[in-house]
Amino acid sequence: MYEQPKPCDLLVTSDLVLTLDASDRTFRDGAITVSDRTIVDIGRADELRARWTPAATIEGKGRIAMPGLVNVHNHTPLMITRGMIEDIGFAPMYTPGIPQGHWLTEEDAYALSSLGMYELLRAGCTTVVDFYRYPSACAQAAAELGVRAVMAGRVHDAEPGALATGRYDYSRAIGEASLRENAELIERWNGHDNGRIRCDWAPHAPDTCSDDLLREVKKLADAHGGNVHTHLSQLPLEVETVKARTGLTPPQLLDKLGLLNDRLIAAHCIHMERADIELCGKAKITVAHAPIGNARGGRIAPIMELREAGARIALCTDTASGDLIEAMRWAISMQRINRQGNVLDARTVLDWGTRQGAEAIGLGDTVGSLEIGKRADIVLLDSRSPTLAPLVDGYGVLVHSASGHDVDTVIVDGRLVLSGGRLTLADGDAIVAQAQKVANTLWARAGRQPIG
Ligand SMILES: [Zn+2]
Repeated sequence: MYEQPKPCDLLVTSDLVLTLDASDRTFRDGAITVSDRTIVDIGRADELRARWTPAATIEGKGRIAMPGLVNVHNHTPLMITRGMIEDIGFAPMYTPGIPQGHWLTEEDAYALSSLGMYELLRAGCTTVVDFYRYPSACAQAAAELGVRAVMAGRVHDAEPGALATGRYDYSRAIGEASLRENAELIERWNGHDNGRIRCDWAPHAPDTCSDDLLREVKKLADAHGGNVHTHLSQLPLEVETVKARTGLTPPQLLDKLGLLNDRLIAAHCIHMERADIELCGKAKITVAHAPIGNARGGRIAPIMELREAGARIALCTDTASGDLIEAMRWAISMQRINRQGNVLDARTVLDWGTRQGAEAIGLGDTVGSLEIGKRADIVLLDSRSPTLAPLVDGYGVLVHSASGHDVDTVIVDGRLVLSGGRLTLADGDAIVAQAQKVANTLWARAGRQPIG
């Protein structure tokens, strides 16, 4: 007796499925079926076609399916500085002569965030941690484009105008306003669309937040749950400032205030003494490793040492680009330079950009691999692209040769959000044009007239 095929929402086929599950299963001429946003079957296409009658099908002839990438630290409104900050400064908040966060309107943030979210989807990032000013506008952009996002505000009380010239003026009013913005975000957006949008707390950095403000964040984050996102040991100025203010290194300060733990997602972790590395490892923090931005600032983070000490490593682009595959390659090259040896391989960094990222942000059972019971966040790459040939083990060519430009189709939460490189839920051309308009105005204010 043959079993009757069962109905499902979606069948996705592809020449090859890379599941990135615990046993690294792959399926030639494979398929995935989806019901109620969730993967309900995975295997060979002919078997799945016999078992399921899908309401819709995405035929992936000439495609490779893999799980959506997880980008654990980003600031979409900072797209305003892209292409300009790289040659004139380091972190935008510390750099004079560029459009500053406090110049943005909420509409500007929405336009720039839409551009950033669009770029992330184009490059196969289905999950992003994104935090900046006007986080509700950014959450709206993520919600509309179909991205899975963990959103937060940018909590700080250092006065930004003074900071850009290297001075620290802490203001209670600025701190309270940024706390309010983050609280309003959580109130309005946490749990949106069946949990696709989640919200957390994000103190900007140990130098831009006073001890009192960090204590307040700790209290609020404990009551809220979830992660705390921050920048940590990003540059010498931060380390010197925190030492002068508290007598402690940035990790020691966060430890003293109860923030250094396995819920902390700390970007950069560059300027660390041996004791800092041990402390972060013991606390089992997650390092959001941003190799592209680190390298452009002339710096290498000691991520192998942090990992050996017990920290989790996940990957991010930190608005340098949307391309996490590019970040994987940079991570490998930089650590090989740093350690003078072949210390990292393609499969490891692919894990950092998928499963490790998902587990770090509490979504380990939800995304990060293609498995029955997980949400259907699926990326289809163009297997006919010359950069994906020849395909032997799959992982090597993907990490060392492919790029986000090879992404053709993206599905998030069982919904098609990118097809043939084009957004399906919004007008990508209009998003690019609107962001350009914002850039024209803000760069003119900073004294740089855009070309044309
Ligand atoms: Zn950052």
